[in-house]
Amino acid sequence: MTERLAIVVPCCNEAAVVDRFYDELAREVGPTGVDWSVCFVDDGSTDATLERLNALARAHANVRVYSLSRNFGHQIALSAGLDVTLGSAVVMMDADLQHSPSVVPAMIAEWRRGHDVVSAVRQDTEGASWFKRATADAFYRLINRLGETEIVPGAADFCLLSARAHAALCAMPERHRFLRGMVSWIGFDRAYVPFQAPRRSAGESKYTTIKMVGLALDAVFSFSAAPMRLATRLGMALFVPGLLYFGYIITRYVTMNDFVRGWGSLICTLMIIGGIQLMFIGIIGEYLARIFEESKRRPLYFFKQAPDDRDA
Ligand code: UDP
Ligand code: MG
Repeated sequence: MTERLAIVVPCCNEAAVVDRFYDELAREVGPTGVDWSVCFVDDGSTDATLERLNALARAHANVRVYSLSRNFGHQIALSAGLDVTLGSAVVMMDADLQHSPSVVPAMIAEWRRGHDVVSAVRQDTEGASWFKRATADAFYRLINRLGETEIVPGAADFCLLSARAHAALCAMPERHRFLRGMVSWIGFDRAYVPFQAPRRSAGESKYTTIKMVGLALDAVFSFSAAPMRLATRLGMALFVPGLLYFGYIITRYVTMNDFVRGWGSLICTLMIIGGIQLMFIGIIGEYLARIFEESKRRPLYFFKQAPDDRDA
């Protein structure tokens, strides 16, 4: 059976890099001997990305271009690409050459050794800011403490999936998608390939701080019920001392006819407890909103352009 490798690449305003990306990919993946194709998913770009991609598709038979009806975000664009590709293996990677095509042959080698999931693990990102490093570090520590699914720091969405791992991922219909968590969750034999992420080849990062925070929240709320359970523990921690203190006040009144004074401390306690309650109502609301969004069962995305022949 011939090996068919499909490479899924979400692109949002990447006109400046897509040609170089394809050339580098061809240079690296060509010699491995697999029958490879690329599926670009244009995620509502407002620059010339779609035209550049269509030109690539006209020039190369192994390029397919899908375009989403608007910007749906990186995780949904990746999911759309996974939905429309078939192959004996699928690779997901970014278009900006930060996921170096030179790593793909090593991933293919691990897959040929029988691994179903091969994740490229970023050792370092050239030129990443102190802020991005520190927040990424804190994030991985938090998510691994909270959730049951282990997420290897640095193993982002650059990975290869065998046909059955790909099918498993496609069988997960959830709306709030944190793909690297989902890839860990499906299980299977996993291998890791280390790599150094270079600087972005051109253009600028589309992951604004707000999008990063959104992704982090998806990771926490989709993979862990721990924040909600924290309310029970904190509630107990406040309730028990409160009850003991109440007993103390009553005893003092009965035995010494002495009122304990302290309206100031009362107000503080009220504010702290009120604040904690509101905070947890907010956390429960966060889960509720997600249930609400899931329950609408809307499609995850719409295509405004798709090639006639699917990746069969
Ligand atoms: N991307 C996308 N939709 C978005 C944001 C990003 O499809 O809304 C794509 C982008 O074109 C790139 C990949 O996702 O191929 C990673 O984005 P980026 O390089 O901007 O993120 P960073 O590497 O800075 O985290
Ligand atoms: Mg990037």
